[in-house]
Amino acid sequence: MSDSYDVIVIGAGPGGYVCAIRAAQLGLSVALIEMAADDKAKPQFGGTCLNVGCIPSKALLDSSHKYHEAVHSFATHGIQVGSPAIDIPAMMKRKDKIVSQLTTGVGGLLSHNGVTVLQGKGRLLAGHKVELIDLAGKATLHEAANVVLASGSEPTAIGVAPVDQDRVVDSTGALIFAEVPKRLGIIGAGVIGLELGSVWGRLGAEVVLLEAMDSFLPNMDSQISKESLKIFKKQGLDIRLNARVTATEVANEEVTVTYSVGEQVHTEVFDRLIVSVGRNPRTAELFAEDSGVTVDERGSIYVNDRCATEAPSVWAIGDIVRGPMLAHKASEEGVMVAEQIAGKHHQVNYDCIPSIIYTHPEIAGVGKTEQALKAEGVDIKVGTFPFAAIGRALASGDTDGMVKLIADAKTDRILGAHCVGPSAADLVQQMVIAIEFCSTAEDLQLMVFGHPTLSEAVHEAALAVDGHAIHMANKKKN
Ligand code: FAD
Ligand code: NAD
Repeated sequence: MSDSYDVIVIGAGPGGYVCAIRAAQLGLSVALIEMAADDKAKPQFGGTCLNVGCIPSKALLDSSHKYHEAVHSFATHGIQVGSPAIDIPAMMKRKDKIVSQLTTGVGGLLSHNGVTVLQGKGRLLAGHKVELIDLAGKATLHEAANVVLASGSEPTAIGVAPVDQDRVVDSTGALIFAEVPKRLGIIGAGVIGLELGSVWGRLGAEVVLLEAMDSFLPNMDSQISKESLKIFKKQGLDIRLNARVTATEVANEEVTVTYSVGEQVHTEVFDRLIVSVGRNPRTAELFAEDSGVTVDERGSIYVNDRCATEAPSVWAIGDIVRGPMLAHKASEEGVMVAEQIAGKHHQVNYDCIPSIIYTHPEIAGVGKTEQALKAEGVDIKVGTFPFAAIGRALASGDTDGMVKLIADAKTDRILGAHCVGPSAADLVQQMVIAIEFCSTAEDLQLMVFGHPTLSEAVHEAALAVDGHAIHMANKKKN
């Protein structure tokens, strides 16, 4: 046996590295195992989120938004910049620099907190032992009182569109295109399809999204989904619902995609195709059969609401377990597990995890949707308020969308908040705080919101719940 720790964490994504740091802060001896290596063969921290997910995609979303504004909106503000040009290598270099700054920063934090980093592939064996295969293929054995599995997820593959990371790419390939595709096809109009479709669409690609479902963003509040679909269509994203891809063929630097909508068969030719149809938990070779860890019917590691697996003192967090595949959910589970190991109480509130799509405008929601509450038979009152009636939104020329608040008709407690509009992510975060503090619509009505701010849309939506929004004609009067 090489060494022994209070905690061994396998995987240094936002779930694993946050868990390791919090456990070390609480005085535990911690080892963190990571198999990904950077170009200097050093451990690459940050997982999907920092390297090929949240951060690089947002860097490109922000760059492409600035370009789009320069082309389409600056003149309306009285700013003439001639005709802006795109420099993709510079855009990519900026993105890579941000990624490197953050991943290096995580390495510094791990070292500052005294976390031992073990480089290589970790595998849980029976009895809290972990086998580590280093980059040279050498195996060593390590032991811990607690083991935390945090190996994340990988893109779902579909047989009809094999990814070659050239013409047919997954989300990772779509973050490193060397030039703007002329025609970009995307299979799956979910979060990744919309975000990366927006990036390349703003830079000039003609974007077609082929979505198998007959409804758009079905997990979001349906009023917000409908409004978002209208906005995207206005922006030129060609979203085709009920589209089942049956074949793809790569030839002559083009991808031909055959798909059907009902009985009708269609063909489209693209110069690049992104496959973004979901992600699968990464559990292959992660644990030995006799380790006691089990998986559920979706291939996720089975855990209870505190992230304990069926094997004693073995925990699992983030994308490999049930719930939304989100970095903030993974991190909070990491903190919860570290604190439980240290004997503290912490329970993630799974009913209050915000979900956000970083398009422009952004789409965000927290709590229950109107359709879910109606299906549960809950008596609700709903208030909506459009950004078109918000002075600050007009001033910045960002008037698409609305805020929607849902309150319990009897108790007035806020049950859900949904938004499509400018800074929706940050506005909904206010509602995370409100829901966590069990606020009522009246609580929000009585608060003073700064003027002129986008937050006034939240205030007005809260007033609209009871029919007394000020800057709009209310349907019901109170
Ligand atoms: P990961 O981040 O996947 O990290 C797992 C780590 O474990 C990796 O470093 C991997 O190398 C390592 N590993 C795996 N197996 C082993 C092993 N056996 N031994 C050693 N190491 C191992 N979420 C958001 O909340 N907001 C966003 O804006 C957002 N944008 C995204 C954009 C894209 C394009 C993608 C693909 C995802 C995005 N996500 C976003 C999702 C987010 O990235 C994930 O939910 C999050 O990274 C999950 O964290 P994790 O720690 O569970 O796993
Ligand atoms: P997703 O689940 O958001 O969307 C996948 C879409 O593909 C769905 O609409 C689905 O109906 C469709 N689909 C599935 N199979 C299909 C097929 N054969 N043909 C056509 N359409 C098909 O998944 P994603 O966009 O791949 O993202 C994966 C995960 O990454 C998400 O669960 C999300 O939580 C996470 N993510 C989050 C963010 C964010 O928080 N902003 C950004 C990117 C990714």
